Amino acid sequence: MPFLYNDDGHLTVDGLLVSDIVAAHGTPLYIYSAAGFVDYFTSFQQAVAPVKGKVHFAVKANSAIAVLRLLAKQGAGADIVSGGEMMRALAAGIAPADIVFSGVGKTDDEIRLALSKNIGQINAESLAEIYRIEAIAAEWDMKAPVAIRVNPDVDPGSHEKISTGQKTTKFGIPIANGEAAEIYRYLQDSAHLTPRGLAMHIGSQLRDLAPFRKAYLVLLELADSLRAAGCEVTHLDLGGGLGIDYEGQERPDFAAYGALVEELFASREYQLGFEPGRSIAADNGILVTSVLYTKPAEDKAFVITDAAMNDLIRPTLYDAHHRIEAVELSNRAQQNSDIVGPVCETGDYLAKGQDMPEMQAGELLAVFNAGAYGAVMSSSYNTRPVTAECLVMDDGAHIIRPRKSIEEMLAEEQVPDSLSD
Ligand SMILES: *Cc1c(COP(=O)(O)O)cnc(C)c1O
Repeated sequence: MPFLYNDDGHLTVDGLLVSDIVAAHGTPLYIYSAAGFVDYFTSFQQAVAPVKGKVHFAVKANSAIAVLRLLAKQGAGADIVSGGEMMRALAAGIAPADIVFSGVGKTDDEIRLALSKNIGQINAESLAEIYRIEAIAAEWDMKAPVAIRVNPDVDPGSHEKISTGQKTTKFGIPIANGEAAEIYRYLQDSAHLTPRGLAMHIGSQLRDLAPFRKAYLVLLELADSLRAAGCEVTHLDLGGGLGIDYEGQERPDFAAYGALVEELFASREYQLGFEPGRSIAADNGILVTSVLYTKPAEDKAFVITDAAMNDLIRPTLYDAHHRIEAVELSNRAQQNSDIVGPVCETGDYLAKGQDMPEMQAGELLAVFNAGAYGAVMSSSYNTRPVTAECLVMDDGAHIIRPRKSIEEMLAEEQVPDSLSD
């Protein structure tokens, strides 16, 4: 584990003191462990090695170019959901052939960008989108590599806002009513589309493998029936979604997931793709914040920190729980605490009703499991500079995204001339 308390009770990242990193770079600060990312990514790769799966890291979980570059060096491809993420993946040195473009709402410009860069696969999610891809490919007299993302109508049993596998969500093309099969035949017959296969992603933070099993069986049945009908189905993209332990400190069970995939797919002739995001990134990042004030309330204490919902929105957005601990262990009395930021919203909190040692101004807290869907979702709400990010690697802490100054933030804006006197 990259984040450990040393014998003196000081939190360290791969041996470096968190307090030293913060002394150099300030708070709030995301700190990632390069060794942790490599360890988790290679563990995932090994778990799916028996089925020769290609791992496309889901860029939206953590899109820092340095992190993508680190993973690319381990052989990662990229699962992207926008033209911006495509440019990041390319900037990180990921080969176009190893990029898969997912998402329900690709614009013409994004489709053009994908085709001009020759990316490996576009996962289309509607017939209307397939028509646009086909029209643009026809304009350029080329063939676009397209898979269709199917919706298996399986409930992943995750939080409503990150569940994508049921037919009531906007994602994918339904299988049950025959729509996916019909659209696949359209792909197969098009002069400007190369059918690549099927893709699926049923949701995020799945801690139980049963929904994966159910969905993968539905996918296999469709793939087999399409092949039986004479269609070319070379690739199956099994998505991401494997959950992590936000309560405790257990590693994601890559081996169990790998065993499931091996059981279902090892004897089959499909080229498999995987798109893990959270399971690779979450455990390998923390958000460090300074305590500004403490404020007693009737039956609890408010611990007011310099990190807020604009730095880490998961608690506010998904009622997500993050383990939060003092960077320096102490044996002070515990108290029931709400850890809150300075943003002017009651929903601005990092944790509620958590037992914490009594904290004092200037002391540091670490928010664990913050390496996925943390910095990528940060904003400058309340004109708070977007949080800096730092990567611990080769015994040093390297800033990979500096904190913007307020001057830089203001300089991005313009006022119409007629208002400028
Ligand atoms: C978000 C997403 C992923 C990654 O999901 P995780 O839960 O972070 O593993 C993979 N594929 C697609 C299409 C996604 O939208």
